[in-house]
Amino acid sequence: MHVIYGGTFDPIHHGHLRLALEVGERLRGVPVSLMPCHIPPHKGDTGATAEQRLRLLELAIAGEPRLSVDDRELRRGGASFTADTLRQLRKELGAKVPLAMVVGTDAFAGLDRWNEWWAIPELAHIIVVQRPGIVLDPKGEPARLLEERSVGNAEDLYSSASGKILNLNPPWLDISATGIRDRIGRGLSPRYLAPDAVLAEIQSMGLYGACPAKNF
Ligand code: ATP
Repeated sequence: MHVIYGGTFDPIHHGHLRLALEVGERLRGVPVSLMPCHIPPHKGDTGATAEQRLRLLELAIAGEPRLSVDDRELRRGGASFTADTLRQLRKELGAKVPLAMVVGTDAFAGLDRWNEWWAIPELAHIIVVQRPGIVLDPKGEPARLLEERSVGNAEDLYSSASGKILNLNPPWLDISATGIRDRIGRGLSPRYLAPDAVLAEIQSMGLYGACPAKNF
């Protein structure tokens, strides 16, 4: 099983990291690959450049063998379309290896606005993690897809290479990258919301309006 967890990670925080660990543990302990996007097609400008976000991710997972970083979307450049990424991965893994991508319900709710979204379930399984307060429109395509393809437990993902949807409900830490950027911008401390190494780098690079001279 190859598991990817994509996002803007602007910046990576403990919510992302805990989720990645929890998902891996529910899938026979497989490592989870965090995949920063180059240009997010559905968000505005990012606060940090793609290379800076990648650097923060690498610092966040340093020394943690259960997590890795896949920088293929940065190397590819341009807008990061998930269908392209999954096709590339599928080619590398071959037709038989199960491939799964992790998304929060907030991201999954907008799946039908993604480029070539209909190709995605043919290329990978989708692991949908419940974000508190997000309810899918029962008449929308994502809800229909979920109804058609949902499986009851993680082991079901091992019986095929793609096409299934697994709902998971691990604890969701109430942390967002927006909240961290806001705090930094207002001169408030983001401490304990993300790893210290990540925050130290944000500060030394002066990202998100951080003042390098003032400690978080
Ligand atoms: P922003 O606040 O800038 O929108 P974010 O914190 O939501 O960012 P993203 O990089 O947009 O982070 O999210 C990447 C993935 O991580 C998405 O699938 C999203 O649902 C999920 N995610 C976001 N916040 C959390 C959290 N606190 N715990 C677990 N997963 C999260």
